[in-house]
Amino acid sequence: MLLSNSSLNNQQRQEALAELESCEFDVLVIGGGINGVGIALDAASRGLKVALVEAADFASGTSSKSSKLIHGGLRYLEQYDFKLVREALNERELMVSTLSPHLVKPVSFLYPLQEKLKERTYVGAGMALYDALRGFKRALPWHKHLTQKKISEIAPSLRLDVVTGGYQYFDAQVDDARHTMTIARTAAKYGAVITTRIRCEELIKNGKAVVGAKVKDLENDEIIEVRAKTTIMAAGVWTDPLHEKFGLKGGYGVRMSKGAHIVVPGDAIKSQTGVILKTDVSVLFIIPWGDKWIVGTTDTDYDQSREEPLATAEDVTYIINQANRVLEPKLRRDQVIGVFAGLRPLVSTDPDSPTTKLSREHVVDSPAKGFVSIAGGKYTTYRVMAEDAVNEAINHLRRLVPDSETETLAIIGAEGYSVLMNQIPRLANSFGVSEKTVEHLLNRYGSLIDEVLAPAADNKELLKPISKDLDYIAAEIVYAATHEGARSVDDVLSRRTRIAFEAKDQGLGVAEKVADLIAPYLAWKKTQKNASIKEYEQRVERQNQILIAAKGTKSKVS
Ligand SMILES: Cc1cc2nc3c(=O)[nH]c(=O)nc-3n(C[C@H](O)[C@H](O)[C@H](O)COP(=O)(O)OP(=O)(O)OC[C@H]3O[C@@H](n4cnc5c(N)ncnc54)[C@H](O)[C@@H]3O)c2cc1C
Repeated sequence: MLLSNSSLNNQQRQEALAELESCEFDVLVIGGGINGVGIALDAASRGLKVALVEAADFASGTSSKSSKLIHGGLRYLEQYDFKLVREALNERELMVSTLSPHLVKPVSFLYPLQEKLKERTYVGAGMALYDALRGFKRALPWHKHLTQKKISEIAPSLRLDVVTGGYQYFDAQVDDARHTMTIARTAAKYGAVITTRIRCEELIKNGKAVVGAKVKDLENDEIIEVRAKTTIMAAGVWTDPLHEKFGLKGGYGVRMSKGAHIVVPGDAIKSQTGVILKTDVSVLFIIPWGDKWIVGTTDTDYDQSREEPLATAEDVTYIINQANRVLEPKLRRDQVIGVFAGLRPLVSTDPDSPTTKLSREHVVDSPAKGFVSIAGGKYTTYRVMAEDAVNEAINHLRRLVPDSETETLAIIGAEGYSVLMNQIPRLANSFGVSEKTVEHLLNRYGSLIDEVLAPAADNKELLKPISKDLDYIAAEIVYAATHEGARSVDDVLSRRTRIAFEAKDQGLGVAEKVADLIAPYLAWKKTQKNASIKEYEQRVERQNQILIAAKGTKSKVS
């Protein structure tokens, strides 16, 4: 075995399954969202023997459907949640500067003011507090006040009859699904046994103590008994049903709140900065996403399928209406390229409170010996959540374990990233691709770029974009299967790339090409390849059906 093999692929999966069956682990993690993979990395890097089982794909739950902001959460200041804001700002700083600078990037937001004096004083104080909570050692610039004239220059799409001035401040953004998968790979590099399409079915108990779990390989329905001294569940919105299934009484409940986003083309909004708007229930973000905009989100109570939350016609109407309070020209429904919706796992004790007031902070619980569960929090604070969960698990191990290392542990691809960004022309020349492609690759793989492009040395076809409207090249699709654990067309189109919401046809036009590129590495027969394409087409169809009303109905927005 290599000392540092972070590759997740068909062969690695076979070896991982054999290890699940034959080893006893210190920590078994249930769930491969950001919190589960964060826990696997924290525990493995302390020298513990770790396994992680994910029922579907990395980040296939909430962690691929967030607003993709690494932020302190300006609005939590209004709830006086200073501890959460300070902690999150510290994490933001760590990610941008040390842990994952190739994936987590600064982004600026404009907070438009609609009154002259009172609002300016109130929001200005909030901005100053937001900056102050971060402290003086910072990678991101301080906020500044902008006049109406300045706003007309940098954000011409904002309505000057409504917007009287504004504040510009900085946060950070990330491709959440890519970041989660990259952390899973980093955990694998440090020895964690990582598997997807493996669902935890029940716990193995010795008296009242949990000593492992029975898991099912969803690719062949085989049951594997995994022995583990501690089991940590990071199952997000699946927490309550799993507690119940496992016969455990959790000390908290998880309520689901749905948040939807729409994606519109870059030219639909003329602005050099993102925008944040206060709404009656929450906030609305207009977030730059490559040459597009992501606009959202909603916040509605939810009790339907955890596996497939869908954006509805009403969600789209709400988002467009809110954005159009300040935009001119107005957004139109026919401009919407894509949508996505996710479920916030909100820890709750009072089932009657409206979800927006519930805390975004996390809870660690231990309802049985050898078992820890964690939920809540924000994507941004995954690292501290992971550290807390592993600290709790260590209490059950009853042995000396080193402190967490993750505050300084850069994830794979981070090392050397900033140097490579200074050498784009040299890299373009040596790889035989455009400078734009090198930049695109560095911002997705960092210093792993040569690994991505290695197969292209013998096959120049892999250097070509997979379609003329997309920046992704064929080598990236192959790499998704050879190194990033992709096991289906959906994994590639929805999470290794974001074609599912970036392409006007949701990627239906490239689904077959993607399947052809990954099929040899997944040892697929023709029937398996066709089934994977079909599964993706049906997924797109289900979302589109729900939206037909939105696209077909005449816009109510005047
Ligand atoms: C609309 C929206 C916007 C958001 N925006 C932001 C933001 O901008 N910034 C921010 O910091 N936070 C944001 N968040 C919050 C953040 O996304 C979540 O807190 C975070 O992703 C939760 O991660 P998780 O790992 O706990 O859950 P998940 O990502 O849902 O992971 C749980 C995993 O457990 C797996 N699982 C379930 N059952 C089993 C089983 N039996 N066996 C094995 N695996 C199982 C699931 O398949 C799933 O992959 C947002 C959330 C939403 C919904």
